[in-house]
Order: sequence, then C-alpha cells, then structure tokens
Amino acid sequence: MEDCLFCKIIEGKIPSDKVYEDDDVLAFRDINPQAPVHVLIIPKRHISGADKLERSDDALLGKLVAVANRLAAELGVSGTGYRLISNIGDDAGQSVHHLHIHLIGGKRLNWDN
Ligand code: 5GP
Ligand code: ZN
Repeated sequence: MEDCLFCKIIEGKIPSDKVYEDDDVLAFRDINPQAPVHVLIIPKRHISGADKLERSDDALLGKLVAVANRLAAELGVSGTGYRLISNIGDDAGQSVHHLHIHLIGGKRLNWDN
C-alpha cells in the first residue's frame, strides 16, 4: 500500500535489518529497540492492524506467532522469556498502521517498556 512504511520495507524501498523472510511473512529488527532483542514480525499483505484480521486470516496469524516463537529460540530468548505484543490504535501507541507483532526479550521487562 502506498504511504505505508512497512509496505515500503517489504518492497525494499526502505532498508531493514531482516532476520526472517518467506512468501507471507517478514521479520526485521526494530529501529528503536526497547530491549536487546526487539524484532517486528509482519505479514507481507497490508493489514492495518490486528483488529482488522478476518476469519480467513486465522492461519496467517498462527504463522506470525509461529515465526515469532522460532525467532525467539534462534535469538536466544526462548529460555529466559519474551513478550509478543501488537498495539492497536492510539491509546496503545500504534504508530505504524501495518499489522506487526513485537518480539521483545533479553532483559527483565516492565509494563512501561
Ligand atoms: P507501534 O508503535 O506501531 O506498535 O510500533 C512501530 C514500531 O516500528 C516502533 O517500535 C518503531 O521503533 C518501529 N519503526 C518505525 N519506523 C521504523 C523503520 O523505519 N524501520 C524499523 N526497522 N523500525 C521502525
Ligand atoms: Zn503496509
């Protein structure tokens, strides 16, 4: 989608530090990491947020979480624990309106971060 930052990252118009890619999913490191491990897992199809997922997207959501869990293991935080978050809307602080799951770990997390 035009004017979507993450669509531009998917298209390669904006560089990113990719950690995983397949036909449906891209994962890359957050530009402003809140912890030693901070990766964003996104669908390649533009969906504006988790609230816009439809029943037909059930498998896609399952895949996003499966990729997140696999990356957590690869990046060395599956034993110590990690957080998967998807912000929806203003009060949650969603700043990019392309569905993304934050994978955050590598330190003890508070709700403030
Ligand atoms: P949100 O606030 O929407 O839940 O998360 C958006 C995330 O995207 C933020 O953590 C922010 O640091 C990250 N971000 C914003 N712009 C870029 C960018 O150009 N590249 C990368 N890798 N991450 C970005
Ligand atoms: Zn997009």
